[in-house]
Amino acid sequence: MLNALQTRIIAIVTFLVTVTVLSAVVGWAGYLSALDQLEQRGRSDLALASDRLTGELERYRELAVLMSDHPGVSSAVTGETNNVSDLLRQTADKTGSLDILVVSRFGAELASASGEGAISHGGAPYFERAMDGAMGVYHRVSDRYGQRTFLFAAPIFSESGPVSGAVIVVVNVSAVEAVWRGARPTVFFTDELGVTFISNRSEMVLMARGDVGIARGTSAEYYPDTLRPFLTYRNRELRGRTLWAVEGQRYVPEDALYLSLPLPVIQMTGEALLDVSPAWTLAALQAGVAAAICLAFGAMLFLATERRRTLALANAQLEGAVQARTVELSRINVELRREVSERIAAEAQLTKAQSDLVQAGKLSALGQMSAGISHELNQPLMAIRSYAENAEAFLERGKVDVAGQNLSRIADLARRMGRIIRNLRAFAKQESEGLTDVLLTDVISGVLEIVDARAKGEGVEIAWQPPTQKLVVRGGEVRLQQVVLNLVSNAMDAMAMQETPRRIEIDAECKENRVDLYVRDTGPGLDEPDRIFDPFYSTKQVTSDGTGRDGMGLGLSISYGLVQSFGGMIRGRNHPHGGAVFTVTLDAVHPREDAA
Ligand code: ADP
Repeated sequence: MLNALQTRIIAIVTFLVTVTVLSAVVGWAGYLSALDQLEQRGRSDLALASDRLTGELERYRELAVLMSDHPGVSSAVTGETNNVSDLLRQTADKTGSLDILVVSRFGAELASASGEGAISHGGAPYFERAMDGAMGVYHRVSDRYGQRTFLFAAPIFSESGPVSGAVIVVVNVSAVEAVWRGARPTVFFTDELGVTFISNRSEMVLMARGDVGIARGTSAEYYPDTLRPFLTYRNRELRGRTLWAVEGQRYVPEDALYLSLPLPVIQMTGEALLDVSPAWTLAALQAGVAAAICLAFGAMLFLATERRRTLALANAQLEGAVQARTVELSRINVELRREVSERIAAEAQLTKAQSDLVQAGKLSALGQMSAGISHELNQPLMAIRSYAENAEAFLERGKVDVAGQNLSRIADLARRMGRIIRNLRAFAKQESEGLTDVLLTDVISGVLEIVDARAKGEGVEIAWQPPTQKLVVRGGEVRLQQVVLNLVSNAMDAMAMQETPRRIEIDAECKENRVDLYVRDTGPGLDEPDRIFDPFYSTKQVTSDGTGRDGMGLGLSISYGLVQSFGGMIRGRNHPHGGAVFTVTLDAVHPREDAA
């Protein structure tokens, strides 16, 4: 798999290669089109230059024809006069000819405009042609004039018909060239021997392509030492065009389009070398513009893609963060649920532990009371037994009324025993009902019945005056009985070790919506009133003589929890006149509500 960076690099490289290829194609097409235009322009330039040259030379040709018809010239040929030199000089001056010669039919020079030393023209191709009655055209590097010359030899016809001589007009080629020297493009005219005879670049003049000796019978004649080697160049074809790569020339374009135009009138070929570097420049410019446009588009595309990529990346990061946060939140949520369920379980455990403790407290109280209870039950049982035995004896003696009294006492005692057992059963039972209306006096009476035997056994006086008004409170009867029983038992425990007086005062009063129940003893009082409701706080220990009692330290803390569950309150303090006093405050239920 390629990573993002590699993909990007490959895309960029591909793009650059494409742009390069495209630019090259555009450049090449531009180059070809520029070459087309260059060729068209070059052809018209070459045609123009050729026209100018041929037009210029034509003048001299016509001059030769005109001069051949001149009577002065004809008479000079026939020998009637030899005073034609003035005419020739004047004409040469007026027409800008280098020289005008009159030649006899034998080639002898009869007169000349320049008056230079006469030479024989016999055998020269132009002369022979004139002698044939045609126009002789010739060019050469003339020793006589020391420069390149163009010659037009027109035949002079005698009146009788045959050619009697010739008029030769010599043209100074340099003068013809002078008008367009240096003009663009580079143009040169090459003769049939391959020599550049005329050119608008002086450096191009008289260059020979190959070996050129004295060539008689042609339109030209050279001496090899007047010629220079031709340009060194590499020729190459491009779609029907010829291109030259020229070496080491300052005045000729290095890279040139070659054009040629045959000029049969002057027996030469016009040639032109056009500089192609502007075509290259144009092509490069077009390629550059194409590349710049592509690159600009590419850069815009790249930036847009990068921007999109960055946005996508940021989006992915955000989504990742949101997902991570969601996972974290879900985890926290699960944690919270777990904590909640743990709390619920702990609460259930606590409730169970509390009810277990209540039960444990009750069982412990039962244990403490078992001795008293067995005594309590045993005593009426013994009494019942003796009353029954006595009743039997009285019946035998016929004292039915006394026996009846005994039986009703037996019935009383049995009822009392039944009440005690019912109380114990109720006490031992787990109470799980909610709050009900409880008659406080009944609760206290039940407790007193349970502790009655022990109180008597230990010589404890219990003072309890039930109030005249009915005291009804909100609570659970058995649980409230457990609270009161615990208070009374604790009071008796506290006083067990002391000498008389042993007295417990129980009192209850109603204050507006509350009922206060007081349990006061004449014991030693509380050692640490602030700690008595702490679970497992106990000062009781089993003594060696068995008079002391073993304490679990749970009684008051359970009582505290129970009273609170009724919506009430329990407090313990030392009485100013000695002993401890406990107050249980409960919500009162008024008779009006009761009735309702
Ligand atoms: P236990 O009776 O098992 O010790 P309680 O919670 O019922 O447990 O009592 C805790 C302690 O409070 C007792 O050990 C005792 O020191 C003190 N206490 C309770 N009632 C009295 C009282 N009436 N007089 C003196 N001390 C008391």
